[in-house]
Amino acid sequence: MIDFTIPADLAAERDRVRQFVIDTIIPFERDPRVTSHGPNDELRQELVELARAEKLLTVQAPEEFGGRGLSHVEQAVIYEAAGWSTLGPVAMNCAAPDEGNMYLLSKIANREQVEQHLIPAINGHRRTVFAMTEPYGAGSDPNQLATEAVFDGENFTVNGRKWLITGADGAKTWIIMARVAPNPHIPDGPTLFLTEGGQPGIVIERTMNTMDRNYVGGHGVVRFENLVLPKSSLLGESGQALRYAQLRLAPARLTHCMRWLGAAERAQSIAVEYARTRTAFGKPIGEHQGVSFMLADNEVALHQCRLTIWHACWLMDNGAKARHESSMAKSFVSEELFKVADRCVQVLGGIGISDETVVEMIFRDMRAFRLYDGPTEVHKYAIGRQVLRG
Ligand SMILES: Cc1cc2nc3c(=O)[nH]c(=O)nc-3n(C[C@H](O)[C@H](O)[C@H](O)COP(=O)(O)OP(=O)(O)OC[C@H]3O[C@@H](n4cnc5c(N)ncnc54)[C@H](O)[C@@H]3O)c2cc1C
Repeated sequence: MIDFTIPADLAAERDRVRQFVIDTIIPFERDPRVTSHGPNDELRQELVELARAEKLLTVQAPEEFGGRGLSHVEQAVIYEAAGWSTLGPVAMNCAAPDEGNMYLLSKIANREQVEQHLIPAINGHRRTVFAMTEPYGAGSDPNQLATEAVFDGENFTVNGRKWLITGADGAKTWIIMARVAPNPHIPDGPTLFLTEGGQPGIVIERTMNTMDRNYVGGHGVVRFENLVLPKSSLLGESGQALRYAQLRLAPARLTHCMRWLGAAERAQSIAVEYARTRTAFGKPIGEHQGVSFMLADNEVALHQCRLTIWHACWLMDNGAKARHESSMAKSFVSEELFKVADRCVQVLGGIGISDETVVEMIFRDMRAFRLYDGPTEVHKYAIGRQVLRG
């Protein structure tokens, strides 16, 4: 049976994380280094050192790599607390895309790759990117992958163009998805490569101007121009990228849900405080049914989202892939939390759309959540097919 009790030590750690975020991290939310392309690297490094000092850095990493090897349910509890500020996961090194990338590397990287890429990422010394989406190729449908890797028996030559690549500018570790062309040496098809950033052949054309600003380095447009990679750059086996991407996606889409749940709760707490203290027509606005219903709808949604996340996590902790459940969780939670944020903006009246509170930023940043790690429609498409298959 599912047990919803949070063990005392986990509850204590959750409270410690929440307090760390409130006392130490929130003061940085108005730091000018939170740019229109997200927190910059200097700020990230400063935050990482603060988390390190509190022994809160990369707590999710497997124990063999120096972390605490949190289960998925434990992650849900801790990440929700970290998400109280969008800078919390950045500080604790459990923000996207690094968190999902580290998870993937811990599953499929070989020993040399672990030493070169995973350990420094876990230690907070380097950022990582996952480069899949393309303007004219892979998007909702990764089978459309157009970036090509030609293998001559020794080296790959990669050519293609990607966009929406989070953290591209300044990342030292690159996971690149490209299609290995038919060749007599190894299996062809979608393949993952692991390599260093900042080398000739990886051209960062620009950082895109987007609605959100919570991801370090923003989102880049990138060109691979005759990028030469040795055979040792293969991450896992040739032709297996889509299988590996699935490995990363189920947990990664849930960790987005966990972090955004924390942010939505913060928005709700600000709206509740406003509803208690702001008056209109002779009483606090929270005592008008129209406002109290919005706050009640939020409370119901937050609760439903938490249970949905925990259920999918519990399944994964018990050995299931939980693809169907994580798809349901991602589509449901991303839609519901955005409605929560929207209602919080409404409760706050005019200041809801201003940066007088952090609610405006949460609302804008959360909009993107319905798109990445599978847009809602694509998850529903998969859920619908599963339902029809019976
Ligand atoms: C903030 C952010 C960060 C991102 N970071 C990364 C990153 O680090 N690395 C990376 O590789 N990518 C990243 N992405 C890209 C993301 O993975 C894609 O946006 C996503 O896969 C959708 O692809 P697309 O944008 O090409 O949309 P498209 O594939 O062009 O889809 C457009 C619309 O069509 C809909 N649609 C597609 N298929 C169906 C269907 N079967 N039924 C109904 N509707 C459908 C979609 O839901 C969507 O509404 C990021 C995106 C965002 C917004």
